[in-house]
Amino acid sequence: MNWIKETLSRLEAERLRRSPPAVGPAAAGRSVTVEGRDYICFASNNYLGLAGDGRLAEAASRAARAFGAGAGASRLLVGTLSIHRELEGRLAAFKGTEDAVLFSTGYQAGIGAVSALAGPLPGSSHRQGMRIPSVAFLDKLCHACLVDGARLSAARVRVYPHLRTEKLEELLGRETEATRRLVVTESLFSMDGDSPDLGGLFALAGKHDALLLLDEAHATGTLGPGGRGLAAEAGLAGEPRLVQMGTLSKALGSVGGFIAGTRELCEYLRNTARSYIYTTAPSPASVAAALEALKVLEEEPGRLERLRANVSFLAERLSAVEVRGPIVPVPAETPERALWAQGELRERGLWVPAIRPPSVPQKGSRLRVSLCSEHTREDLEALATALKDLGLA
Ligand SMILES: *Cc1c(COP(=O)(O)O)cnc(C)c1O
Repeated sequence: MNWIKETLSRLEAERLRRSPPAVGPAAAGRSVTVEGRDYICFASNNYLGLAGDGRLAEAASRAARAFGAGAGASRLLVGTLSIHRELEGRLAAFKGTEDAVLFSTGYQAGIGAVSALAGPLPGSSHRQGMRIPSVAFLDKLCHACLVDGARLSAARVRVYPHLRTEKLEELLGRETEATRRLVVTESLFSMDGDSPDLGGLFALAGKHDALLLLDEAHATGTLGPGGRGLAAEAGLAGEPRLVQMGTLSKALGSVGGFIAGTRELCEYLRNTARSYIYTTAPSPASVAAALEALKVLEEEPGRLERLRANVSFLAERLSAVEVRGPIVPVPAETPERALWAQGELRERGLWVPAIRPPSVPQKGSRLRVSLCSEHTREDLEALATALKDLGLA
């Protein structure tokens, strides 16, 4: 087993070895306690401060008492409780689709949906299923769960440069033998904080008879009217060719993932997505917390407004950095400089993660700032001042 030890040593030498820091309980979102010290937190996906909201915790504990701490079985056996169907109905209404399928995590939603939509058709042997050649087209910066789903599908995978729709068009034009095509993208990219031209992409997918899977993990609760996502913003929510994916674990403050789309699409996934079939149904507590989050999102539009105001405020203060949304990449040129900046910011009580290879290319090393609705103007001022002092903004 020497290779395990040697690999860890090599990672250590390259300063790439990582371990999860122990933090205090989920707070409102604007601060974090790491190893006993408090920081202003610019690292979480708790965009609306809901992860630590007492109402979500209350709803979760009520559901645990009513339904049990665990669901006890997988969805297709005896794991589907009324609360699972209730959440699926609420998510479909939220996303403007006929139905929605709940997964235990967003990661499982991504890997399950991509592998099921690009993979062999069920009821046939693998070889027969793949006689209908399938191709998955992914943006270069797609999340690991989408990449892993494409790999698992055994479909041909074509990767196009980030946001370059004209390159995708070339690839689509070349794959003339494929009879099933799946284009995969995100609505708010997790490292670059940018978005595709969804209207253009959707039209292109339509022209080539392709399905478009849109991962709205970071956009659910942050983009579009009422936080309904980029699909809603682009007026494409009810389009049968658009497969909307989301997570309950970021702005919605719980845990779980979902796919929203037509009734048939959802039924297909319930019959084919292995990460839906072969796992225990999500816990009643996490389902109830997500239901409560959707309610709060609707009843308190001020949260989303505060998040958007914080984005605008930081954009104003940091003219040298492109601030497009709640995820703000601050270029640092080299991994060493990113690490140095991370340390300097911690000295000032600001928790901002450095992002280095292999998450990004060498020259793409950066700090990644995430904003939330609960950050105060003082928090943002402190961040902007520190970034300027360090020569990063
Ligand atoms: C976080 C994330 C996921 C995974 O969601 P979880 O619910 O945390 O498993 C999927 N896709 C993207 C783009 C993400 O950022």
